[in-house]
Amino acid sequence: MIDMEHIVADSAVFIMGKDINSKSLITVPSVIDELKSSQANMRFQLAAEEGARVESPDPGLVKEVLKVARYSSDIEELSQTDVDILAKALEYKESSVLFSDDYAVQNVAVLLKINVKPVSQKKISDVLVWGKKCTGCKKRFDGGDICPVCGSALKKVRKRKV
Ligand SMILES: [Zn+2]
Repeated sequence: MIDMEHIVADSAVFIMGKDINSKSLITVPSVIDELKSSQANMRFQLAAEEGARVESPDPGLVKEVLKVARYSSDIEELSQTDVDILAKALEYKESSVLFSDDYAVQNVAVLLKINVKPVSQKKISDVLVWGKKCTGCKKRFDGGDICPVCGSALKKVRKRKV
């Protein structure tokens, strides 16, 4: 059992069925909308009966998450649900742990100094910033879609550790 004042739960918590204290569990409406499997839904219903809460994220904190995600270029990888759950974790930053299996979510969480733990996967050990690499001449760039040198498409790569 994980004993923290608040546990902010991404959809993976309900999909994987993590053994955590439901009373301290908080999630956002968009996570609940994402729970398609009946088993994940049932896990949420049980947690809700035991005191789990669903709270909308604060719009100001959503903006803060987007700002950091833009900086680290994780924004392309984040869904609205990811942004919502990060904003909720940011709100309870001092007293919570965020459970998520999404690498982009984990990356932005680390940048925002949110306690983050994986539900099933191993946690990334370093923060990564994304860059672009040409699929033709293999030169590296900070951004863009087309290589200014040879005209080939650029693909996203992990650029450096912060
Ligand atoms: Zn090129």
